[in-house]
Amino acid sequence: MMRPLVVGNWKMNLDFVEAIHLTQQLGVVLRSRPLEHVDIVLVPPFVDLRSVTSIIDSERMPVEVGAQHVSMHDSGAHTGEVSASMLRRLAVDWVLVGHSERRAMYAMSDAVVAATMKAALRHGLKPILCVGESLEVREADGHLAFVSDQLQSALADLSGGEDLITVAYEPVWAIGTGRTAGTDQVREMMQHIRGVLNTRGLTNARILYGGSVNPENARDLMVDGKVNGFLVGGASLKAESFLAIADNANDCYDGKR
Ligand code: PEP
Repeated sequence: MMRPLVVGNWKMNLDFVEAIHLTQQLGVVLRSRPLEHVDIVLVPPFVDLRSVTSIIDSERMPVEVGAQHVSMHDSGAHTGEVSASMLRRLAVDWVLVGHSERRAMYAMSDAVVAATMKAALRHGLKPILCVGESLEVREADGHLAFVSDQLQSALADLSGGEDLITVAYEPVWAIGTGRTAGTDQVREMMQHIRGVLNTRGLTNARILYGGSVNPENARDLMVDGKVNGFLVGGASLKAESFLAIADNANDCYDGKR
């Protein structure tokens, strides 16, 4: 079993004051109940990054920070974008790439996802590549082929840094809907993604599940779904629910090591 990774995607929630508050709360709980068998990453909005990294640093929290998006360009006339080197200067280590909300709402094509993967890796950012099918594709039984295509496109022509990659399987129909994928569905997809990653030599990449993860379903998803961790949206906005999910991952790994 791989050491689990639990990532909290705050999406466009929490201003910098609220972000400070939540990070401090997480710090207090983690001090009293250290989670030694799980890696934790917080993914706040851009404007919160500096505040969150400062607290993590000063409190020596065992937590890393990611951004929700990064430009595929290194610098220049790209109003509104943020580059990978700017994120690295802020002690940001991770970045989500190709989250389904960016694909659907901001026209992030497979080609842009692939270019963004390269930009992240060029600068040593650890990309969490998000893939997942719509309900329509799932109902037409096209989910495995759809996810393979997304992976092949995003991983094509990489030239170094592949060991930094994590994949998050997030069925679009399960994100923010309260409808979690069943453990059989998740296990099938985990095996499928693992097969694709193996053919590309990415044998050590962790594969996360995301889509309405909560403290109640986390254990089953880990044990029966065979996931290597979680990408958590809504439940990451409260210290209690986020850490309860991390706690489950921690215990599952501790029991299986
Ligand atoms: C997400 O935003 O990646 C996500 C999985 O959201 P939620 O947990 O709210 O479904």
